[in-house]
Parts: sequence; C-alpha cells; structure tokens
Amino acid sequence: PPQPDLLALQHSDVARLLPLPSPESDKYRRGVVGVAAGSARYPGAAVLAVGGALRGGAGAVRYAGHAAEGVVAAHPETLVSGGAPREAGRVQSWVVGPGLGTGAEAERAVAQVLEADVPVLVDADGLRFLDPGQVRARRAPTLLTPHAGEAAALLDVAREAVESERLVSVRELARRYGATVLLKGSTTLVASGGRPVRVNPTGTGWLATAGSGDVLSGLAGSLLAAGLDALDAASVGAYLHGLAARLAPEPCTAVEVAAALPSAWQQVR
Ligand code: AMP
Ligand code: MG
Repeated sequence: PPQPDLLALQHSDVARLLPLPSPESDKYRRGVVGVAAGSARYPGAAVLAVGGALRGGAGAVRYAGHAAEGVVAAHPETLVSGGAPREAGRVQSWVVGPGLGTGAEAERAVAQVLEADVPVLVDADGLRFLDPGQVRARRAPTLLTPHAGEAAALLDVAREAVESERLVSVRELARRYGATVLLKGSTTLVASGGRPVRVNPTGTGWLATAGSGDVLSGLAGSLLAAGLDALDAASVGAYLHGLAARLAPEPCTAVEVAAALPSAWQQVR
C-alpha cells in the first residue's frame, strides 16, 4: 500500500518510544547531552535548554558557553567546562543555538558541534550558520528545529510563504539539508527523508511564550542522547512539550513547561 503523506502522532507511539531506565542503567548509558547555548546577552536561553535536557531524562548535561554561572545557579546538576564545545568532554548528542548570538564565536561553536560525530540538534541562532553541504556531509544525524521565520530564512523565502505551505516547506528543508526537520508552530510538523511527515497534536497556544522553544531543544536533544533516532526524538519531544504546556498553570512560562515535563511523562507511559 502507498505510504501516507502525514501521520498524526498518537499517545501509544510516544509511550512505546519513551526511553525508561533499566536496572543496568548508568548515567552514561542514559545519555549525556552537550548544550552550547546562551550568551552574556541571552543567558536565560541556556538555562531553559539545560532545564529541558535534564527533564528529558538525560543522565547528565554538559554546558559549553558564556552563561555557566546562571546555568549552575538554576541547575546545579550541570557539568560546566570552558566556553567552547570542543573542550566540553564526551557527549552522546549536542544541542546548539538557543540564545547563542550572531557573532564569530557563535559561528565557531556551531562549526565545532557539527564536526562532532554525534547527533546534533540546531535551533534558533545556530540556524544562521548552516551550510547545506556541510550538514549533508555529516555521518551522524542532524535535527533542525526552526519556527516559520527561521525556516523562511533557511529557504530564502518570505515568512508568509512558509506559513501558507508548511508541509511543502518542511519537506524541502529536510531534502535540502539531508536532515530531520521539526517545523514549529500551532501544529508542529516533523519531516525526515521520504518518511511520512509526523504531525504533533498536543500543542497549545500557551506555548507561544518566550523561551518555550529553548526547552524543546534541550528535551529533544536529551532524547537523541538516549538513542532515539532524529525523527523519533523530534516527535516524542514535540508531543511531551505540548502535553507539558497543557498540564502547566495557565498562562504558563517556559520554566513551568519544563517543570511540567515529569507529569507529561507520567501521563504518557
Ligand atoms: P520558539 O518559536 O522557538 O520560541 O518556540 C515556540 C514553541 O511554541 C514551539 O514549540 C511552537 O511549536 C510552540 N507554539 C508557538 N505557537 C503555538 C501555537 N499557536 N499553538 C501551539 N504551539 C505553538
Ligand atoms: Mg526559538
């Protein structure tokens, strides 16, 4: 039978994919996430991405960037090192981009992360520095998580063109970059190669709040570190993120979305 174009994510799909610890688990097997995010100007993005990663079930989170003080104050579990991803030590996935800024150092951070032979999630400012050829040449998976404006910049079209053709746009981005692409919005879409595009039904308008995307980056990065493939990590991340926003106080802040992730896990498993 022909493959469907679209697949609505279901509770049972997500439940089956949730990475739960086993008696043999240790923090390395559960996954170590590297987060290269934040800057002196946007320290909060780093705090939110690390928070999302910790609540995504990672065994540990390593932070590389210039907001280490704020990150450790908010999340004392975090392992911090020098500012550059290259100095951060071994990780099973990288999240790069939220609040990273637009200067040469941000560009270097993205380049270093893309050189690593582990799955990489690129979001927000990190998306400014992508070269399609370099991304396509990676051996490990790459997951891009643009909103419509960021997707429009990547495709060099107007934002309205993405908004009116979301399905075509997410597929075209996945093709052009040889990557998995999660296109954020009121219905989040996830495309990967020739697979049916996944549609997340759990979103809520309350998620349209500053920093909520940064939480999703950390969360999906954590699922990559646990060993989910990029399509599954993006799908499960979007599903839990939306569910968490529904379980959080209304109106919720991004911090509260992260704080509601454990309840979302409980509800799914
Ligand atoms: P960002 O644009 O990076 O801050 O991310 C915003 C997050 O909120 C993404 O996960 C979006 O999918 C989600 N979001 C934004 N607007 C809506 C909406 N109207 N309905 C549902 N989810 C939304
Ligand atoms: Mg964002």
